[in-house]
Amino acid sequence: MAITHHSSKPPITQGWLLIAMTACVIAILSINAFLLMREHRSVELAAIRTSLNIVRLIDRDVQNTVEQYDSALSALIRVSKRGDLSNLSQPLKQMLMFDKAEETPDNGGFFMLNAQGDLVVSSLADYTPGKNYSHWQSFIEQRDSSGNDLFISHPFPTEATQGACCISFSRRISGADGSFQGVAIAQMKVEYFRSLFQKLDLGANSTISLINTDGTLLIQQPGRDNARDDLSHDPIFNRLLKEHKGSFIAVSSKHGQEELYSFSEVGKLPLVVVVSLATEDVFASWRRNALLVGCVTLMLCITLLGLTWLLGRELQLRRKAEQTLEAMIRTDPLTELANRRKLDETLTTEWLRAQRTRKPLSLIMIDVDHFKSFNDTYGHPYGDEALRLVGKTLKTFVRRSTDLVARYGGEEFAMVLPDTHAEGAAQLAERIRHTIEQLPPIKPGGIPITVSLGTCTQQVTADDSQTRFLHCADQALYQAKKNGRNCVVSRNAAGDA
Ligand code: GH3
Ligand code: MG
Ligand code: MG
Repeated sequence: MAITHHSSKPPITQGWLLIAMTACVIAILSINAFLLMREHRSVELAAIRTSLNIVRLIDRDVQNTVEQYDSALSALIRVSKRGDLSNLSQPLKQMLMFDKAEETPDNGGFFMLNAQGDLVVSSLADYTPGKNYSHWQSFIEQRDSSGNDLFISHPFPTEATQGACCISFSRRISGADGSFQGVAIAQMKVEYFRSLFQKLDLGANSTISLINTDGTLLIQQPGRDNARDDLSHDPIFNRLLKEHKGSFIAVSSKHGQEELYSFSEVGKLPLVVVVSLATEDVFASWRRNALLVGCVTLMLCITLLGLTWLLGRELQLRRKAEQTLEAMIRTDPLTELANRRKLDETLTTEWLRAQRTRKPLSLIMIDVDHFKSFNDTYGHPYGDEALRLVGKTLKTFVRRSTDLVARYGGEEFAMVLPDTHAEGAAQLAERIRHTIEQLPPIKPGGIPITVSLGTCTQQVTADDSQTRFLHCADQALYQAKKNGRNCVVSRNAAGDA
C-alpha cells in the first residue's frame, strides 16, 4: 500500500490560481475597456455638440445675409415695376432701386436683365445698359424655371470685383400672366462668408463648407477661392442632403481620413452648411489617455499574472515538501516500509471496515530468529542489511492494494491482510517463512536468516477489541518461538487454530 496522506480539502493548484487570476485580469481589462469606450463616446458627443452649435450659428448668419440680399432683390423688382418710375431722373431711379442693395454686406453689384438677357439697369457704373448677359447662369436658370424660387449660382470670378470670387442670388421677374420678363440678380463676394468662417476657430484639420444643394461647393474655409468643386456624386454630400440635419462619422472621399461631419440645411435656402472635424484631432487627447491607461493597466495585469504564477509555484513546492514530510513520518527509514504509526492507522481503518463489511481480517507478526546473536556475530551494519533484506522480501508478498506490511519495531514486522481468512493468512505466512529461509546468507558461509510467524484472523464484530486482536497475533508468534522458531503458528481470535 502506498504511504500517502490525503487532506480532506482539495489543494489550490497553480493551474486554478492562474485561471482565477486570469479571470480577474479579464474583468479588469473589460472594465477598463468599457470606461475608455464610454469616455470615447462622451468626447464624441461633446465634439458633436460644439460643431452643431457652430453649424447653427453659421446657419443663422448665412440665412440673415441671404435674406438681406433677397429682400434687396425684391425691392429692386418692386420698384422697377412701378409705372411712374420713368418720370424720375436717372440718379433718383438708381437711388430708389438700389436703396436696400447698399446695405448688403460685400455686394458685388445688383443687376436687372430683360427677357432677352439685355442689361436694363445695374448698381455698378462699369456695366452699360443694353449689353447682353444671356449667358449668365442666373439668367439661364431663371428663364428655364417656371417657379419663383431664389436661385444661388456657382461661384465665379468677376471683373467688377477685381477678380474676387462671387456668387449670385437671383429672382425671376414675371408678368401678371406669369410670363418671363427678366431677372434681378445680386452678386456677393464669397469673401464675406470666408471672413465669417475665419472668426470661428475649430482646430487645424477642420473645415467649414457652404454647399449648394445641387452639389456646388460655394466656399470652404480653409480652402481655395472659387473652388467650384462638384460634390453631387460625393456619397457623403448625398447622405447629408438626405438627412437634412445632424452629424455622423465617415471617411472623407477627398482626404481619405475619418471625419466627424455636422451639418444643417440653411433655412429654406438651397444651401447646406457643413462643419467637418478630423476624428484624429477630436480623439487625440483621448487616444493619448487611452494609450497611457491601457499600457499601465496591461503592465499591472502582467505583473499580477507573474506574481500569481510565482505564488502558485511556491505553493506547489510547499505542497511537495509537505507530501514528502507526510510520507516520511509514516515510513521506516531503514527498510523503507511503513512504520509503526502507519501500521496503527491502517489497522484501525481496516478494523472498522471489517466491522462494517463483516469480512475476516488477518494479521501476521513476523520476528527474525536469534537476531541478537546475528548482530553479535556480524556486527550491526550487517544486522541492518539483514533487516533491509527481510523488509524487501516481505514487500514482494503484498499483492493487494489494501494489504500493508510494516516494521513493527526492532526485528519485528507485521502484515495487515483485510478480507483474508485464516487459511489464506497461514498459507501466506508459510510462503514467507519458506522464502526467507531460502535467502542466501548475508555473508558467504554465514548463518541463514529465518523468521518465526504468528497469524491471527478475526471476524470482527462491534464487541471485539483491537488490542486483543494484536495480542492474539503476538501470542501466536510467541508460540512459534516456543515451537522452535522458523515456523508458523496460526490462531483464530476466537480460539486456537
Ligand atoms: P528471538 O529468536 O527470540 O527473537 O531472539 P532474538 O535475539 O531475535 O530476540 P531479542 O529480542 O532478544 O533481540 C532482538 C535484537 O534485535 C536486539 C537488537 O540488538 C536487535 N535489533 C533491534 N533493532 C535493530 C536494528 O534496527 N538494527 C540491528 N542491526 N539490530 C536491531
Ligand atoms: Mg523480537
Ligand atoms: Mg527475534
